[in-house]
Amino acid sequence: MGESKPLQSVATLLTLAALLLATPAVGQTIDPYASDPVDLIALREETQTYSSGIDIWEVWICQVPNGTVPLTAAGVAATVEGGVRPYFESISGGNYASSFRTGGVVTASSPSSWPDNPFIYQTECEDLAAAAANPGASGVIVVVNVDYSGGYATGGFPCLPGFLCPETFPANGRIAVVGAATVAVIGGFPPALRTIAHEIGHTVFWPHSYGGLLDFENGVVYEYDNPMDVMSGGDHETLDIGTIAINRYAAGWIGPDNVIFHRGGTLTYQIGSSSGVQILVLPTEVTGIYETVGVRFASGYDSGLPAEGVEVYRVDQSAAVCDFVIAGQCSGPDRRISQVPALEDPAATAHVYPEGATFVVRGVTITVGTRFGNAFNLLVSGAAVAERFIDENGNPHESNIEFIAEHGITRGCNPPVVDRFCPAGIVTRAEMAAFLLSAIGQSPATSYQGTFSDVPAGLWYTPYVEALAALGYTTGLGDGTYAPNQAVSRAEMAAFLARVFALAPASSSGFSDVAAGEWYASAVDSIRAAGITTGCTPSTYCPHDAVLREQMATFLARALG
Ligand SMILES: [Zn+2]
Repeated sequence: MGESKPLQSVATLLTLAALLLATPAVGQTIDPYASDPVDLIALREETQTYSSGIDIWEVWICQVPNGTVPLTAAGVAATVEGGVRPYFESISGGNYASSFRTGGVVTASSPSSWPDNPFIYQTECEDLAAAAANPGASGVIVVVNVDYSGGYATGGFPCLPGFLCPETFPANGRIAVVGAATVAVIGGFPPALRTIAHEIGHTVFWPHSYGGLLDFENGVVYEYDNPMDVMSGGDHETLDIGTIAINRYAAGWIGPDNVIFHRGGTLTYQIGSSSGVQILVLPTEVTGIYETVGVRFASGYDSGLPAEGVEVYRVDQSAAVCDFVIAGQCSGPDRRISQVPALEDPAATAHVYPEGATFVVRGVTITVGTRFGNAFNLLVSGAAVAERFIDENGNPHESNIEFIAEHGITRGCNPPVVDRFCPAGIVTRAEMAAFLLSAIGQSPATSYQGTFSDVPAGLWYTPYVEALAALGYTTGLGDGTYAPNQAVSRAEMAAFLARVFALAPASSSGFSDVAAGEWYASAVDSIRAAGITTGCTPSTYCPHDAVLREQMATFLARALG
């Protein structure tokens, strides 16, 4: 029965029972998002105990009276070391390796009920292996000698601050129990190594991902129907499907720098493994609940993917949706990750969108643009949350800040979360280049020309500065430099606005502090006549003051009408 579908973990309950033991005492409060700088994963750092470096597993065989498969612990360790270790090394980008060493054989007195009743835990085998295991491993794999290709895992303890955190077996409770068909050729069928990877996934605190509509008869959601994730379903038993981006983020294999939030407006993002950003997040008003947009292509350890493109999931860690709650949230294997839209067919990939597709998630419209390398341009339009920025309410420039955000001219000041505009911040010449270029609908430069000696390749603003120069709107300071970090004065801003928006000459602005004959006087005349400025007071322009971000918003909003 090597062909039988793996029922890959019936052990979520066991895992969570273990996690419950680590729950803080009444009265002790722990911020579950304290260790995630962008608040995506509850207990993120605490659940990375095992997901970096080398994770040492000891392999034990459990002989049962009804066992028929020839197995040795050394042979099994070699099989999984050769198959599962390179899989994790690859999908973790070299951040994590599962390493397998030889344990030995224990002999159970009771026959296994697998595969006839896969829901029965192999507790005798677990107890025997726990008693026999050598010190120092961070987990144990118990192979029950029956012709079954499924298993289950108990995930271990997250290291909550202030709590005992055993990191080695058996104290940490970290055990995977699988049938012999996961590691041996039986009846011509190859070993279902994917089950091993799946169970190890649970022990680095990954949950299942699933369609969300298929139920067991008892009302429990069926969690094995996402064909895009080793932590879910699919027909493959070989290691040809990796995992979804949010799991890799939870494990620390990609970080906050690889994430960007879309809160509102119309913006273009580059998402994918060949871009710096791998996850686009559509936040909700509630921490811990959001959608993720990631990119997958069928190559390498993803060669078995049934679809390529942009995949969308809903992540929900609110206590109401899970049975076991730690620090007020569902965490680790109890986190809920479901496909968007919810799907009923285990083979369906309607949550994966190819190049050219347009779809809507919670009112946000996403168009999958051109593929470049292993990434896509995504055009994203609409509000994921009601409040675009949380630091400009009541600001006299608020409507103008919202206007330029809606038109994709600003992305906020605190990536990747981008929930702030920093209205009182000073505009640098680098930022000004980005603001102006976006305002006139021009694209950043796509190759580096080395136009200015102090604008090196690879910085965020370089393509904006170079494009602004290529369009003839700046020659820098005239000595081959651009001074990207220098503040922009209101005089300079007037000159740039007059040039970029091709404003007509006008009669004197009448500002008392703008003398005729100053190099910037005609530009100030033009922007006043165009209604772009009304001065810093009714009678003055303050040409030597630095431009603030809130003022920049107003200049641009007025220039664009
Ligand atoms: Zn599972």
